[in-house]
Amino acid sequence: MEASVTPYPVIQKTVAEREGANLGNYEQAASAFDWNVARALLDGLTGGGLNIAFEAVDRHVLHGRGGKAALRWIGRDGAATTYTYEDLRQATNRFASLLASLGVRPGETVFGLMGREPQLYVAALGTLKAGAVFSPLFSAFGPEPIRTRMEIGDARVLITTERLYRRKVATWHTEIPGLRHVLLLGGDDLPEGCLSLEPALARSSPEFQTVATRPQDTALIHFTSGTTGRPKGAVHVHEAVVAHNITGRVALDLHEDDVFWCTADPGWVTGTSYGIISPLTNGCTMIVDHEEFDAERWYRILQDQAVTVWYTAPTAIRMLMKTGAEVAAKYDLSKLRFLSSVGEPLNPEAVVWSKETFGRPFHDNWWQTETGGIMIANYAAMDVKPGSMGRPLPGIEAAVVERTESGVRVIETPDEEGELALRAGWPSMMRAYLNEPERYAKCFRQGWYLTDDLVRRDADGYFWFVGRADDVIKSAGHLIGPFEVESALMEHPAVAEAGVIGIPDPIAGEVVKAFVTLNSGFEGDEVLQRELIGHARKRLGPAVAPRAIAFRANLPKTRSGKIMRRLLKARELGLSEGDISTLESDEKK
Ligand code: ATP
Ligand code: MG
Repeated sequence: MEASVTPYPVIQKTVAEREGANLGNYEQAASAFDWNVARALLDGLTGGGLNIAFEAVDRHVLHGRGGKAALRWIGRDGAATTYTYEDLRQATNRFASLLASLGVRPGETVFGLMGREPQLYVAALGTLKAGAVFSPLFSAFGPEPIRTRMEIGDARVLITTERLYRRKVATWHTEIPGLRHVLLLGGDDLPEGCLSLEPALARSSPEFQTVATRPQDTALIHFTSGTTGRPKGAVHVHEAVVAHNITGRVALDLHEDDVFWCTADPGWVTGTSYGIISPLTNGCTMIVDHEEFDAERWYRILQDQAVTVWYTAPTAIRMLMKTGAEVAAKYDLSKLRFLSSVGEPLNPEAVVWSKETFGRPFHDNWWQTETGGIMIANYAAMDVKPGSMGRPLPGIEAAVVERTESGVRVIETPDEEGELALRAGWPSMMRAYLNEPERYAKCFRQGWYLTDDLVRRDADGYFWFVGRADDVIKSAGHLIGPFEVESALMEHPAVAEAGVIGIPDPIAGEVVKAFVTLNSGFEGDEVLQRELIGHARKRLGPAVAPRAIAFRANLPKTRSGKIMRRLLKARELGLSEGDISTLESDEKK
């Protein structure tokens, strides 16, 4: 495939922006970095041990910062409730005391199935204090995906709401042998076999001796998004907190006086690593909004809460773009200092739009459930190349490789495509896929962790996402990354979002088909189809441009906001839809 030339200039940071950033310039940061120094930024437990919750909460109280706002929760009506670090310390102690009184032992698993309620955050941290393992689930899951994951994870405790319990758990609750306790938030009429959470917490002690977990003890189980197939349960340990803490500083520019808002669903790894642990270990005030996406509500929160650092996803950014810059202009967003995005490739168009609309670019960064934390980023100290996911964080060695029969071959030539590989050994790396040792072992070769994502690295060391290995299209000898085609389509004013797949073709092997959603005011007719194909041919050349375009009201996405290209393809070809437990928005056509 011809190396594509980005039409977007690098967004250069001013000296003031660079100096405000955490770690000076990239080269300095990378060469001075040492995981032991990162570890020394944390306290550890008196008498030994390391516990994520202690680092996130108690440590700040011990250092005299107990009165500082840790969590500001925005309820449905838009009103904010503040929890200080001391409030969180006591609440999480109560939860840990409750687990201990119920006989839950260190190492046993507590599942959380709840929307963005403060109690979920308390439960996650309280579970860790008790030495137990926390595993969050998307509250939008149906009964079956919840059950499957709880079975895979050998659930001992479930914390959920009365409403979710009745709709999704009640029918099979007693069929899970190991599930001993179900704690319910809310509801007047307590179902049989459940315990009411709030009164139980009120009776529990606000003092608790955090269990002296060791760095390698399991802390979290996160299921992957299931974009490509059956979700995997990635196991993470307490030591991951070292990476959560430092990557927040480096990649998100978190400082103690920041008001940080991570919009990720709490059922997804981002909701834990950066929606709880990273901001709290860095002593920030974090915002949690109870509601789902709404452009005006989001802008109001950014304004009223004086958010300084914002971490969201391309799908949300594209929705904001669709709403229009004039809506953003109604709000005072001058406090926003650093904007960041994860989960999917961020189209260059979106980076440029944000620079125009907010005066600052979105900083794309890349990671996976398996990596536990950000690995590659356009981070604070460096210039942003729109469309690139950035450079490896200090302490992370990344390479472009090709799988060979005996191992891997590292590709040194700039701009050549290959699989993204990371040198194994950073603290937030997954330690297993639950009950799937073979699948886990297959991720590693010659000390490299293989990501299943295709990328290229340019001569400046910036990485560019090409596509998931499964999504890449092979057409007449070309390897086509869906992202490149989607980004080119998005440059057209009519296009809000695009998902691109390969469909079989007798001559080329595969040809490109695009599914497109439109901005308001545009009609999805044949004239526009021809115009979009013409635009793409001009930008990408005839071999790479889509042959066919279909208009859709929306695209199938996972709960974490990722376009499910495999589903577009399965439907196009009339194949089985496979595991769609994480499917969110959808229109079958
Ligand atoms: P599954 O592994 O079950 O198919 P998933 O890979 O979507 O699901 P996650 O771990 O939530 O589950 O997502 C990680 C993947 O998301 C990455 O491997 C990559 O494909 C994509 N991704 C995340 N951030 C970026 C980014 N900044 N640019 C491009 N792709 C990204
Ligand atoms: Mg994956």
